[in-house]
Amino acid sequence: MKILKTIGEYTNAFLDLIYPSKTICYICGGTLEENAKYSLCSNCYNNLPFIPEHHCTKCSTPLRMIEDGPICRQCKDTNYYFDRAISIAEYKKDVKTLIYKLKYSGHTYLATTIGCIMADKLKQEGIETDIIIPVPLYKRKEKERGFNQAILISKYMAEKTNMPLNIDAFIRIKNTKVMHNLSRRERLENVKGAFKVINRGTIANKDVLLVDDIFTTGSTVNSCSKELTDNGAKSVTVLTFARD
Ligand SMILES: [Zn+2]
Ligand SMILES: [Zn+2]
Repeated sequence: MKILKTIGEYTNAFLDLIYPSKTICYICGGTLEENAKYSLCSNCYNNLPFIPEHHCTKCSTPLRMIEDGPICRQCKDTNYYFDRAISIAEYKKDVKTLIYKLKYSGHTYLATTIGCIMADKLKQEGIETDIIIPVPLYKRKEKERGFNQAILISKYMAEKTNMPLNIDAFIRIKNTKVMHNLSRRERLENVKGAFKVINRGTIANKDVLLVDDIFTTGSTVNSCSKELTDNGAKSVTVLTFARD
């Protein structure tokens, strides 16, 4: 039996169970103003730690005022296979809480908030790609968690932007270790050869938007980007909600 019949079925299973009232802010629980966007009150939305204007144009990391742009030192020394990695906010404060609750506490409705903020960012930046590809999880891990947060986020982005989403042409073939405690070098080793394009026709000659929740060292999205470009992707743009 195929587990994921449609993307719709995939999300609805969780959403129905724990979707909170649509009139409260997903962060503070306060009453939403009538014109509130993303199910966040204006106070919580405005207090999100958005990426400041002075940031690396390649990986979005905030630059210190004394640092010249346009790219950070790390990007000068690294061979990235993606064109550019865009993030919405820094991985701290409420952004950290939102992602944690989404991934580990089963608050999957938060994917609507995150996905819609990310979709609006694409519109603001004038970015249109041919296809949205979420960073895949190893199948067993996805089964244990019950979902892949990158797919949930991508689903709402696809709905809002009308860009096509594909969740089965690109898979994770290695059960990679959790990365929190790994060094940069260990992270690179951990994700090397971890991803595989299994339907080249879906990827070749496409401008790809690769979506994930967090960009940390970039080793995961870079490994994905290598496999995607090796299989003919014209370009890869990375979009994550958070930049750690
Ligand atoms: Zn609030
Ligand atoms: Zn950079």
